[in-house]
Amino acid sequence: MATGIRNTENTAQGQEQIEVFGARVHNLKNIDISIPKNKLVVITGISGSGKSSLAFDTIYSEGQRRYMETFGAYARQFIGDMERPDVDKITGLSPVISIEQKTTNKNPRSTVGTVTEIYDFLRLLFARIGEAYSYNTGKRMVKWSEEEIVENIFTKYKNKKIVLLAPLIRGRKGHYRELFEDIRKKGFLKVRVDGEIKDIVPKMHVDRYAIHDIELVVDRLQVADDLKARLSQSVQQTLKLGKDLMFLLVDDSKFVQYSKLLMCEDTGISYEEPSPNAFSFNSPYGACPSCKGLGTKHQINMEAVITDSSLSISEGGIAPLGEERDAWVFRQAKEAAKKHKISLTVPVGKLPAKQLNVMLYGNEDGEQAEADFENAKFDPSAPFEGVINMLYRWFANPYSEAIREWTEDYMTIKPCESCGGARLKKESLWFKVNGRNVAELGNMNLDNLAAWFDGIELMLDNKQKGDCKRCFKRDKGKITVFAGCRAYLSFIEQAF
Ligand SMILES: [Zn+2]
Repeated sequence: MATGIRNTENTAQGQEQIEVFGARVHNLKNIDISIPKNKLVVITGISGSGKSSLAFDTIYSEGQRRYMETFGAYARQFIGDMERPDVDKITGLSPVISIEQKTTNKNPRSTVGTVTEIYDFLRLLFARIGEAYSYNTGKRMVKWSEEEIVENIFTKYKNKKIVLLAPLIRGRKGHYRELFEDIRKKGFLKVRVDGEIKDIVPKMHVDRYAIHDIELVVDRLQVADDLKARLSQSVQQTLKLGKDLMFLLVDDSKFVQYSKLLMCEDTGISYEEPSPNAFSFNSPYGACPSCKGLGTKHQINMEAVITDSSLSISEGGIAPLGEERDAWVFRQAKEAAKKHKISLTVPVGKLPAKQLNVMLYGNEDGEQAEADFENAKFDPSAPFEGVINMLYRWFANPYSEAIREWTEDYMTIKPCESCGGARLKKESLWFKVNGRNVAELGNMNLDNLAAWFDGIELMLDNKQKGDCKRCFKRDKGKITVFAGCRAYLSFIEQAF
């Protein structure tokens, strides 16, 4: 194996080379080597000469080990200790990233960002400092602490009559007999049902087939200085009963809502506090539910289903059915055709739309089934579901790989309409750091991503910055995101 240029005048800092002394991992014969930094360096040699032993098992492995050592004891108990490679000394090592040489990795979920694990750091960063925006209005979401709510009520609604309401039912059907009985037994006197305040009486109930909003009246008072203790107690109780959400009715007219969760003030939607999983398209907590985190969806290609509209159904005008023959699928189709008086011998292009819809979708309106095809149990006695639904079902839940491949002949791959290819659920895409969501950052090339990170610390307040759990200081007020230690560690430890 060839060795690089030696430069013994390296200093520890700003070292221009990675220097390896006495590497003996696997086949390596106690070699010394110096590798220039900021250059593309290729290690070549015949099979078995130790290329991977040097690159992966020595240099990468030692870099990884040192990186892990910078974690505090708390985080390390989850990671475990790494073994030291058989080498005397390595100097000039920077944090390392390895992209493995597996060329057969066809996982559609992988990108350079995910392969290098940079994306994992982005997830942590977003879970820690991402700011939530409403997907309904695009406005910043707000969340309140109990103290903030009390202060807000005091400054904004002094001398006004207020009612504190704990939401129990939001837009759901039911008679709620047990609920009313339960709160009556707890000693509450009034509820607000569909906007109207009522006394709670025995055997109370509402129309079980109508949609209701029910709030519990926790307290009614006129805001005055000497009632501050009572107000803060009532706010606390209301939030508890309303599961972190409370409403305020001011002078019987103005309606205000407060939430301890991230909430859109205009439309009332709320998000959970973000966890790193919420930004992972491999996790059910983060993945777009429509494409399951793939970013693309297989959709029926009608041009492949009907390739020649001058052919009749018997002649194979609906391609997935094939020509008329004694097969289960065709028998089903024939039965549906008979029932709806659809001709098997007229060219499909001449069939009325409603009739063609029956053959394609199982109904005259041409509505595609919204079934959960993946989990649907197939019922052979059910009426003909239509060729399109059949293709989707077999694609999602194929008996064999061959069946799936066959269904793919009638499909095209399109970006998922729900997430636009970003692969995450919409809530996650509305968390932003410095104006960008995590998917946008994941798609950046590394130069632009580095530029985006440069200065990100200016965006953070002191709470977000935190101090390093190990050295109890900041790296000159700067967060060195990929450098392992310093302030960034506080992110990682808290995220674990
Ligand atoms: Zn999607």
